[in-house]
Amino acid sequence: MKRASLKQIVRLSAAIGLVGLAFFSQPAFATIRYQISLAHPEQHIFQVSMQVDARENDGDVTVALPAWDALYQIRDFSYRVRDVHATNLAPEATALRVQKLDKQTWQISLSASSVRTVNIAYSIEWNEPGPFSSQLNSHHAFLNLAQALMYVPDRRGEDTVVLFSGIPDGWRTIAALPAGSVPNSFTAASYDALVDAPVEAGKFDEFEFDSGGAHFRVVVDAHSYKKGTLENALKKITAYQLQLMGGPPFKEFTFIFHIGPYSEIGAGGGMEHMNSTAIATGSLDSAISVAAHEFFHVWNVKRIRPQSLEPVDFSKEQYTRALWFAEGVTSTYQYYTLERTGLWSRDTLLGDLAEQVCELEARQARRWQSAEESSMDAWFEKYDFYNRPDRSIWYYNKGQILGVVLDLEIRDATDNRKSLDDVFRLMNEKYARQGKFYDDSTGIRSAVEEVAGTSFQSFFEKYVSGTDAIAYDGFFGAGGLVLKIEKQDSADYGFWPSLTLNGMVVAAIESGSAAEAAGVKEGDVLVELNGEPFPRRFTTWLGGQSPGQNVNLRARREGEEKVFTFALGARSDQRCFITEVPRPTERQRRVRDGLLHGTTD
Ligand SMILES: [Zn+2]
Repeated sequence: MKRASLKQIVRLSAAIGLVGLAFFSQPAFATIRYQISLAHPEQHIFQVSMQVDARENDGDVTVALPAWDALYQIRDFSYRVRDVHATNLAPEATALRVQKLDKQTWQISLSASSVRTVNIAYSIEWNEPGPFSSQLNSHHAFLNLAQALMYVPDRRGEDTVVLFSGIPDGWRTIAALPAGSVPNSFTAASYDALVDAPVEAGKFDEFEFDSGGAHFRVVVDAHSYKKGTLENALKKITAYQLQLMGGPPFKEFTFIFHIGPYSEIGAGGGMEHMNSTAIATGSLDSAISVAAHEFFHVWNVKRIRPQSLEPVDFSKEQYTRALWFAEGVTSTYQYYTLERTGLWSRDTLLGDLAEQVCELEARQARRWQSAEESSMDAWFEKYDFYNRPDRSIWYYNKGQILGVVLDLEIRDATDNRKSLDDVFRLMNEKYARQGKFYDDSTGIRSAVEEVAGTSFQSFFEKYVSGTDAIAYDGFFGAGGLVLKIEKQDSADYGFWPSLTLNGMVVAAIESGSAAEAAGVKEGDVLVELNGEPFPRRFTTWLGGQSPGQNVNLRARREGEEKVFTFALGARSDQRCFITEVPRPTERQRRVRDGLLHGTTD
């Protein structure tokens, strides 16, 4: 490896306006080195410089920015990139020719044979809240590194280091990566490992605890929160799942929480990473619930991983049929964990499961879109149209239900001697601990069959690759549970309100509704309803009304206020309930208790 001399470094640093002496003068083992400046948080611009040691015979160096990361959505991060330029570091800092090859790829020609280290500099603007994006503002920085750092396509496996500079006073940095040799720097054995650890920088609260043989760090960015409640819940969640899966596959794990009005702006949720997770929610309760989901991803998807997601292709869509299992069944374990640790009651668990059934049954698309197809089509979720109930089902929703019915079916087939827990333990042994990946639904099915000792061909054909109606009565019956679906008519506005930056607006109008006949239009800003401010909890408000009732609506359109009088419409809703049969057979009781307590006989 070749190091630049100090003199050259000074010249280069001055030339590109970066201060990174300590970084560049470190004995670098990393062949690809990044520096990210946070010097101008008010501009939301990350200044990035990337040093690549050229290899013998390299005629040029190609760099690219991922088209997607975190979410299974093409988001083309490169549209945020500006001013890409390159210099060589030796023998002297001179400009190199940069040519764009496609929307996200640049080629730097090393015409001079003496070029051994290339410095690529650019800036990228990010000010989007939440775990799936990146943000730099005067409050903090949160960075999913794949959204800002370019990679060398055929050199993703090389050692790398990232240094943060220009850090505002009083800010600290944290990421689930080994610390570099200078403060605010992190190392990783590959680009993929580097970008699988989001970075938080700011004045966050931090605490640590040990659980189940591992060490945990917790970072919280919130106005106020109950630390004791969060710590207690995280201890329960991690201890349960570590015991379930036979111990930690890591030494240390980091939770990064942002608690604030994230769900109202559509930025709430959690994102799993190899040894950390980033979670943004509106309340502590939902932060805890999401943590139970994200922590189970330590196994399901991060280590018990479908072959179709490996190796990661950052340049375009990566199709997998397994998201119903990787995401949906992770939700099954999210709620199992909450209930089995006592954070939720059994009624809450059954109530949630009933809601999931109602959600699936309300989607006409369940008749023709399978759980596998829904997994493949995840890439469409950025289009609102696709998410309509007549167009798609959701692999989280159907997958969560399939997790429970698979569990019940395995328990039924083995007289409650085996369960879905055993399937995860087997897959952990067979794939995760061997560094192998499973073959999507085929791999899942063979693990289920090995545990249950019987064929699940028909189950997978009907419910995973097929679209048969789920035979709830049979599955739930094995555990002494009964599903009841009630239909009821409730009032409806005749349009869909939605909270936007302009306030509450009419997001869509239902054609043929009384509201439409009265003149209400898409985009109208909803001001008052019956003389009161338009209810923020508009669904709750409807619950107290009857179909056909007249309402007065005041709305603003192009600066003018208008009043509309019309009758509320009617909507036929389903409500689902799952109850326990009052006098279960001995076997039903064992299966039900096994599922609720996470035990077998
Ligand atoms: Zn998930």
